[in-house]
Amino acid sequence: MKIIPYGRQNITQEDIDSVIEVLKSDLLTQGPRIKEFEDAFAEYIGCKYAVAVSNGTAALHLCALALGIKTGDKVITTPITFAASANCVKYAGGDVVFADINPETYLLDINEVEKLLKESPKGTYKGIIVVDFAGRAADLEKFRELADNYDCWIIEDSCHSPGGFFHDNSGVKQNCGNGVYADLSIFSFHPVKHIASGEGGMITTNCPDLYNRLCNLRTHGIQQNPDLKIFNHGPWYYEMQELGYNYRLTDFQAALGRSQLKRAEEGLKRRIEIASKYEKALADKDYVIRQTGVVEGHAYHLYVVEFKDRKGLYEYLREKSIYTQIHYIPVHLMPYYRSFGSKENDFPNSELYYESCLSLPMYPTLTNAEQEYVLQSINEYYNC
Ligand SMILES: *Cc1c(COP(=O)(O)O)cnc(C)c1O
Repeated sequence: MKIIPYGRQNITQEDIDSVIEVLKSDLLTQGPRIKEFEDAFAEYIGCKYAVAVSNGTAALHLCALALGIKTGDKVITTPITFAASANCVKYAGGDVVFADINPETYLLDINEVEKLLKESPKGTYKGIIVVDFAGRAADLEKFRELADNYDCWIIEDSCHSPGGFFHDNSGVKQNCGNGVYADLSIFSFHPVKHIASGEGGMITTNCPDLYNRLCNLRTHGIQQNPDLKIFNHGPWYYEMQELGYNYRLTDFQAALGRSQLKRAEEGLKRRIEIASKYEKALADKDYVIRQTGVVEGHAYHLYVVEFKDRKGLYEYLREKSIYTQIHYIPVHLMPYYRSFGSKENDFPNSELYYESCLSLPMYPTLTNAEQEYVLQSINEYYNC
């Protein structure tokens, strides 16, 4: 039987042709497709600058470096995210401090963050990493106000939320990753995400200095802006000004990402349709503790439902070739983070959520019949 995963890519003939075109060209990497993809992505998101990198984790690492995280710097984030959101702080030598989620939105609870900030002298915390978990846009206007009061920067992990948005206090629509409230935002083009390039990532910002710094760090710390070179030995001269990495995306990946981006709106529309169907079908079921439902501006990378007897349901669906997933195992309970002192009951909302959450299949090519089958199988499990 055909496996129904929780998420998957959608590759069209046009996508394939765009990659082949690059493979037949002169430049497999550092060619013209990178800039094209960056420009198109910046336009889609509504930000000034976009920097394509090799994956979302590399994007986070470069953000941590560009913002100057140093040994011992404390940064706040949520336990309900992919580990990379926290790991980037460790890469740069900083310390991760978790704050609990709001049990209704599953997003980092701003009140918990404020509590942490208030408890310590100003300057203790350098930044906040806010995650648009599952595709739900965090209210970054509120986080910005708080961050400004405590001289913190904000990284928005928008891996789940391309196309997502919230309305700010003035009623203005603010797209996830648009750089209005966050210093830097990051995206991933892993095949389960909205836009696939194989591996791939993007950083978006409105800040020209951070943009320049990120471009340099992506290529070994070599200054990319000729006007900013300190020396000049001749036309061959390149200048490494700081320690950077090779975190470039290849041109054929960029071509795939660019081609996929053309269908982003269409994919998002289909995700919203699927979400609305789940919401209707699962409303009033007594085996549902809570479900995401239809939320304005939600980009639905995931459709999360909290189920009674989640483990049994997970296993039953697996037998039926429906491969649901749990997002996420709280990061503070990973043995690596336990080694810095975190433990059970530190973040009760996150841990309670983890006991019952399940991500149902959610991707644009999921057919109506497949979604029916998923819903019918869930009903079967609970004998109703
Ligand atoms: C996927 C993901 C990442 C990492 O992206 P990769 O491209 O896989 O490195 C980081 N944060 C979140 C929330 C993600 O979902």
